[in-house]
Amino acid sequence: MGIPEVVVHDEMTKWADRYGTPLYIYRLEAVREAATALLRSIPEEACLYYSLKANPHPALVRELVSLGIRAEVSSTGELAAALTAGTPTAEILFTGPGKTDAALREAVGAGVRRFSVESAAERTRLAAAARARGARVEYLVRVNAATARAGGVGLRMTGTPSQFGIDADQLDTLPKLFAADDATRPFGFHLFPATNITDPSALHREFEASAATVAELMRRTEFEPSMVDLGGGFAAPFAKPGPLPDYAGLRRSLSAELDRHLPGWREGRPAVAFESGRYLAAACGTLLTTVLEVKRSGGRTYAVLDAGTHVLGGMAGLGRILAPGAEPEPVGTPENEPVSLVGPLCTPLDVLSRAAVIGPVEPGDVLCIPNTGAYGLSASLLGFLSHPVAAEVVLDGDRDIDTRQLRLTPVALKASEGSPI
Ligand SMILES: *Cc1c(COP(=O)(O)O)cnc(C)c1O
Repeated sequence: MGIPEVVVHDEMTKWADRYGTPLYIYRLEAVREAATALLRSIPEEACLYYSLKANPHPALVRELVSLGIRAEVSSTGELAAALTAGTPTAEILFTGPGKTDAALREAVGAGVRRFSVESAAERTRLAAAARARGARVEYLVRVNAATARAGGVGLRMTGTPSQFGIDADQLDTLPKLFAADDATRPFGFHLFPATNITDPSALHREFEASAATVAELMRRTEFEPSMVDLGGGFAAPFAKPGPLPDYAGLRRSLSAELDRHLPGWREGRPAVAFESGRYLAAACGTLLTTVLEVKRSGGRTYAVLDAGTHVLGGMAGLGRILAPGAEPEPVGTPENEPVSLVGPLCTPLDVLSRAAVIGPVEPGDVLCIPNTGAYGLSASLLGFLSHPVAAEVVLDGDRDIDTRQLRLTPVALKASEGSPI
């Protein structure tokens, strides 16, 4: 991440006067513009999901949903935002690694019927959650395709050893994953090899490789998907000026590849879907921050702002800072192969340890990571130094139609009332 450029427009500073800083302003016109441009860049027959991860503000989600875009959520918090925004539950897709049983039950209970499963075990847990609610649900099989490759890739999610999806070469050994049971039905494939690909031809190659992978998987598994979600990759500038990339040529070139690899897609056999977070949300936002002090030291000038990495770019810190290298107490004979300890966040950077030597671990094991009393929760970016969270104001034209501030308020818990697993 470069140093964020501070662009203070006169018309923006009046909002800072009114609401204070740090303050995020989201302009709905820019949401509409980005959505229109992206919908024109993908084939007309395809559908588009908005990944709430990029910005779960319900006012943005409501705007995108009103333009025919669907919601892709990865947590119960994002699900709540999608529901608050009035998203039709039938159109919500629940994705992401590390879904808890409680989250699956809550989502099914709220009416979500479409999921992406990251493993055979997760499908089993999804089926249990569906049965518990007397519902039938559908799932995409998330695939880690070894073949997808393109240069100019911002952040590679799969195509390498990864916590996401199921390696394509393991799918042959999982025939049950492609057959319905009493509570679940497979309805397609989900691929999401990479993100933030600025070059339209590199992005084209990535989608082309994914479409070819799907065609090959269809042959190998004899499974006829009703939907193929080819993921995203649409880039956006971050914290610096500049326009969104122009992907207008993709519609035609992608349509030709889909004709070649997935004939029938124009009639919805399979329906083709794409996903985007940053392209849809990035351009609408402006962060307003106040310089608190300017000082000189050792020949340099420092401007102390009221917005730090707890307000902007915290996730970039995950890339810059080494994984914490957590060493939990061993749970078995620690001679076994090292284990990568990863979290539930939808980014390959969400790593607690690349190689923890802790013995064979199983679902349900509780790991004890010692010495985490200092800079544990308090070093999570929103919690660090207990600063107030930046405020958010949504503008429609010159009207502030929605203003809010997240509050991190501690509440007393009764026994067994924490986040259930
Ligand atoms: C993060 C994520 C996205 C959105 O990525 P952007 O780069 O913001 O468009 C889409 N799909 C999945 C599965 C993701 O994890």
